[in-house]
Amino acid sequence: MTKQRLVILGGGESGVGTALLGKAKGYDVFVSDKGKIKEKYKQVLIHNEIEWEDEVHTKSKVLNSDIVMKSPGIPDKVDLVKQIREKGIPVVSEIEFASKFTEATIVGITGSNGKTTTATLTHHILKQQLNVGLAGNIGDSFAKQVLESNFENYVLEISSFQLDDIIDFKPKIAVLLNITPDHLDRYDYKFENYIESKFRIAMNQTKSDYLIYDADDEVIVNHLKNNPVQSTLLPFSLVKSIENGAYLDKKDIKITIDNNQIIMPANNLTLEGKHNIKNAMAASTVAHLLKIRKQTIRESLENFQGVEHRLEQVLKINKVQYINDSKATNVNATYFALESMDAPTVWIVGGVDKGNNYEELFPFVNEKVKAIICLGVDNEKLMNAFGNMVDIIIETQFMSEAVKIAYKVAESGDNVLLSPACASFDLFENYEDRGRQFKNAVRNL
Ligand code: ADP
Repeated sequence: MTKQRLVILGGGESGVGTALLGKAKGYDVFVSDKGKIKEKYKQVLIHNEIEWEDEVHTKSKVLNSDIVMKSPGIPDKVDLVKQIREKGIPVVSEIEFASKFTEATIVGITGSNGKTTTATLTHHILKQQLNVGLAGNIGDSFAKQVLESNFENYVLEISSFQLDDIIDFKPKIAVLLNITPDHLDRYDYKFENYIESKFRIAMNQTKSDYLIYDADDEVIVNHLKNNPVQSTLLPFSLVKSIENGAYLDKKDIKITIDNNQIIMPANNLTLEGKHNIKNAMAASTVAHLLKIRKQTIRESLENFQGVEHRLEQVLKINKVQYINDSKATNVNATYFALESMDAPTVWIVGGVDKGNNYEELFPFVNEKVKAIICLGVDNEKLMNAFGNMVDIIIETQFMSEAVKIAYKVAESGDNVLLSPACASFDLFENYEDRGRQFKNAVRNL
């Protein structure tokens, strides 16, 4: 029998992981990347005798394929992808391909913001009692872990791009954290398309599967009303009581599944901010469903240290708290950062503006922000938006200078918050680089 030919577009973490899994499962594998494949991945491909090319897509080789795994970074509108589809070749994402080769229970977490935090927290709770892997955009690829590990459960962080190319993928438990406009360039600038993409997480679910979602998110609730899903619904809410699901009852988080309730004080969470109460409710609902002991869930929430670059407490200098929220690459993430500030705040903001509308931040800026430092290419828009609201608004193109100014302006008891609401590609390699530069500058004060 001739081997099935698997062509992989994109030689990054998910592409190379899929190549290894595909090869082990008997596919004839070819990896093609239009950019440069990182040396460490090349070595893996060579070592495993997997055919590859980089800095080019040889059309004849790519179109000669039974199935294509497309890296989430490659948009559908690329000519080559169009041609693949026109030939009727199935195009799948890594999670679609890899999930075929595991019987593990899958928890799939998606949303516009909070995926990494919630996936990491969920994994942190589950691993106390279960054999569980963490994958998605975090660490080793899902495909590689399916090949090399024997996890009985996986927590997957799943982007809309991954969901766009699923066919049969079905998480036992899906979590939909929130939906706010993001990545619209990939969705013909139609919010509805992006919403539909997010809801694909539940499209193959049946009654015996669960969809945990934010019942306070109007976009989610409206979409569900007009497009019911088969899944058993477990909503969570900060503002209304929920019979089956999770909610905040004054200061207690209450989670009920089939009359079995777990109660924990929200104040005991190590993570700050209302958005993190939501993330914690979602993660704990997953844990409760998977029968993790109540005490274990409570303790895990109390000792979770958070994820780097997400409202990360860096240092306290002269009683000023420095906070790194570099991962806030959109307005909604920054909204929750500002909301969670409990002291006058010097706010470092800016970068590449993604068509931002800053209005929803105005009340918090009026109430909490004493000075603004604009850091990035699109400072003018920020100066126009916030210029009248604060006494001090300064612009710079250097992180070290931004931090020095913040140091001068901040007084005992204040916070200095880096929460850019913008992408980082103007002055930095990525948001991690931006966060690290912030932390280094703070440590050098
Ligand atoms: P993602 O993986 O979806 O990008 P992260 O957990 O990395 O999400 O967090 C991205 C940013 O969004 C951070 O600034 C974080 O503080 C903020 N954030 C985290 N959870 C939420 C949430 N539930 N709603 C809104 N913003 C959030």
